[in-house]
Amino acid sequence: MRRQIVIGNWKMNGNTTANQKLLAGLVDAWTGVHQAEVAVCPPYPYLAAAAAQLENSNIGLGAQDLSKNGNGAYTGEISGEMLVDSGCRYVLVGHSERREYHGESSQLVAEKFQVALDHGLIPVLCVGETLEEREDDKTFDVIGKQLLAVVDHCGLPGVAKGIIAYEPVWAIGTGKTATPEMAQDVHSYIREVLGPEGDSMRILYGGSVKPDSAEGLFAKKDIDGALVGGAALNAEDFVAICRAAE
Ligand code: PEP
Repeated sequence: MRRQIVIGNWKMNGNTTANQKLLAGLVDAWTGVHQAEVAVCPPYPYLAAAAAQLENSNIGLGAQDLSKNGNGAYTGEISGEMLVDSGCRYVLVGHSERREYHGESSQLVAEKFQVALDHGLIPVLCVGETLEEREDDKTFDVIGKQLLAVVDHCGLPGVAKGIIAYEPVWAIGTGKTATPEMAQDVHSYIREVLGPEGDSMRILYGGSVKPDSAEGLFAKKDIDGALVGGAALNAEDFVAICRAAE
């Protein structure tokens, strides 16, 4: 039995006042016992304040990226140790915005995945194809390569300690969501690539998930929750998505 999880990726949004309000709304709405797990990933400068506000809540904290290096002379980077120290349990690795705007290769993503594991963090590995790749019928090929880079570096038992997020690049922040059937096809392929080790792994869908599209996606057998961008910035919408996962 895989426990559904919904993770909010705030990207480079928010400020002290707005974050406090958003988190207060989430904490209020998400009290008590829930079947689904929930976590949010604010920008680095707000992690410690978020950790304090989420203390004693059942909402987890994650970061949006980490350095492959340990503490030292790496100006501008954030280490796994710092994330743990700031109260994080999860960390995104290989988000398409990191791959595209920061030139992160699958090899670097694999190294970051391992560093996250080494620090006891749960890495959330993002994979996904561009529109062009989908139209060229290369979706499985691209996803397979992104996954295997991490499997080769961390081994299947290592990968199985993390979470996978299938995020078609053409659906991120565009308002276009993959249909539940399209997403299920890729999720089932990912599980096939991971073999028996992947049976217990949670595979999330990400890409313009909204309250009205969440239920259909979560009804699919290989979709174990969502990685949510835009809708995670609105407490009501995010909570509605979390409820759909229960
Ligand atoms: C994301 O940033 O991971 C994401 C899925 O964004 P959005 O929900 O806005 O498409």
